[in-house]
Amino acid sequence: MHGHRPPTRAGSATTRPARGPLPRLTMPDPPSPSRESLLDRLAAAAAGGKAFDLVVIGGGATGLGVALDAAARGFSTAVLEADDFAKGTSSRATKLVHGGVRYLAQGRIGLVREALRERRLLLANAPHLARPLPFVLPAYGWRGRLWDRWIQAAGLGLYDLLAGDAGIGRTRLVGRRELLATAPGLRERGLVGGVRYWDGQFDDARLAVALARTAIARGAVAINHCRVVGLRAGGDGRLRGVEAEDRQTGQRLVVAARCVVNATGVWVDGVRRLDDPAAGDLVAPSQGVHLVVERRFFPAEEALLVPRTGDGRVLFVVPWEGKALIGTSDTPRRDLPLEPRPFPEEVDFILAEAARYLATPPSRSDVLSAWAGLRPLVKPARGGGDTSRISREHAIVVSRSGLVTVTGGKWTTYRSMAEDVLAKCFAQGLLPARPAGVTRRLRLVGAPEAAPALPLSAPPGLQLYGTEADDVAALPGAAREILPGLTEAMVRFAVRREYALTVEDVLARRSRWLFLDARRAAAAAGAVAAVMAEELGATFDAAGSAAAFERLAAGYLLDGSDG
Ligand SMILES: Cc1cc2nc3c(=O)[nH]c(=O)nc-3n(C[C@H](O)[C@H](O)[C@H](O)COP(=O)(O)OP(=O)(O)OC[C@H]3O[C@@H](n4cnc5c(N)ncnc54)[C@H](O)[C@@H]3O)c2cc1C
Repeated sequence: MHGHRPPTRAGSATTRPARGPLPRLTMPDPPSPSRESLLDRLAAAAAGGKAFDLVVIGGGATGLGVALDAAARGFSTAVLEADDFAKGTSSRATKLVHGGVRYLAQGRIGLVREALRERRLLLANAPHLARPLPFVLPAYGWRGRLWDRWIQAAGLGLYDLLAGDAGIGRTRLVGRRELLATAPGLRERGLVGGVRYWDGQFDDARLAVALARTAIARGAVAINHCRVVGLRAGGDGRLRGVEAEDRQTGQRLVVAARCVVNATGVWVDGVRRLDDPAAGDLVAPSQGVHLVVERRFFPAEEALLVPRTGDGRVLFVVPWEGKALIGTSDTPRRDLPLEPRPFPEEVDFILAEAARYLATPPSRSDVLSAWAGLRPLVKPARGGGDTSRISREHAIVVSRSGLVTVTGGKWTTYRSMAEDVLAKCFAQGLLPARPAGVTRRLRLVGAPEAAPALPLSAPPGLQLYGTEADDVAALPGAAREILPGLTEAMVRFAVRREYALTVEDVLARRSRWLFLDARRAAAAAGAVAAVMAEELGATFDAAGSAAAFERLAAGYLLDGSDG
């Protein structure tokens, strides 16, 4: 089985004869079955009256992590994502693989230690998509000289200690001169020095796709653009599976399963109420906004951490895929849009805070893309409005009918969250117990032996494809760039191997241009759609998909969003 589509469906050989027939991809390792063949497997199971061991609802970090762990332990597993893999919160993170310095300040030692251990595993299992990154905390004025720096260095020394063997670099004090050399772009006036420590960064949406593909390689059925619309229970009231709708065809599917996991992030409560209309809220969503600007505003190879903003939170300026991300905010939000937009005051707050630390502060007109994500924070037992203090830990609850809901946590800990979910399924007798730990050293699709030379802060390119870079380079259009670091060949690869079905799937999540520069991404929509049309054939509505993406991208521009 392989992901290569025959030339007749791909259409390229007929629409562009000058380029010759599409070369066959070398047999991928592991294989990438087509979406159609995955759907066929669901249909065959239904026709044969066979139940999966596990069906997971939601294809973000959490759901894909559970699906991968279950498949790796040999359970028959299906995961269904209503939109695209990582369409929800999992493509909108600050993209840090971190232990959480702020939780350390809150004394949450266990949480930090676990995340530091997971950080190490992720960096090892996906070195093409997750890399170490130094961070600096600058200190200004006499307080910075005397007090803050020592407190911070001591705290971060503890951070290193907690990491133990999983450490990736030592914390140390840095003087003003060194800081200005390594972190050009910092405001110089009043700078007395700072502290440097180490964490990691990653490409969140590409990591999600890698998780989906690795799960598929381990035998799972992972399908995007397929929404769960109902739950199915047996006569005894116990859940027996889900009903879903393939949004590509409108077709209804029934997926029978012994165990149903609800991993729909901030949307878990909606799914819980499909099971029990009286279920209360488990999640208190909080919006976080990022602004993306050119690297010239912070041309450093390290990230900047502002330890205490005007409202007592932390703010990052992170070099990422050729640009600088600035974020984030923390605003409680009760509605749950799939495409949340930044509030004007969040944009003002982030720009004002950045201006306190950057020599050349960006203004609204410098923002290339502004995006928001909703944190699925687990609600405290009793009210309280300040979401920045609500736990970042995850919660797993099991309903009377056996619906296993998992939410909260963070990207960095997706793997250990998955182990907790399976442990809960075993404890509830929903699945027969099998030993944990199989994903600790499970390398994800594309993971090279050694990390690529280019850091994740470098502009996007083939380095993000790891061992699959040669396969991408062998496709037609490998030398034709649609945008810097996005070739025609990458678009073909996104369709053939990475389950991209829309222009948005390509420009927002297989490539990250929507998040890097919304205007340029919108301008490339037509060219991306044309290549996709060659790959997907007549059923693909190229004009519609491009137009939908252009409308979406307009919302990522400040003038088009928050007025
Ligand atoms: C601003 C911000 C910054 C962050 N920064 C970091 C960071 O730097 N590092 C870090 O480790 N963590 C970070 N996080 C946290 C991390 O991003 C989240 O914890 C994680 O992405 C949550 O993943 P999830 O799979 O639970 O939710 P989601 O990614 O939202 O996935 C849920 C999925 O369920 C799907 N779905 C919903 N309903 C249905 C249905 N009926 N049928 C099928 N599918 C359905 C949705 O489409 C969605 O894709 C950040 C979060 C935010 C908001």
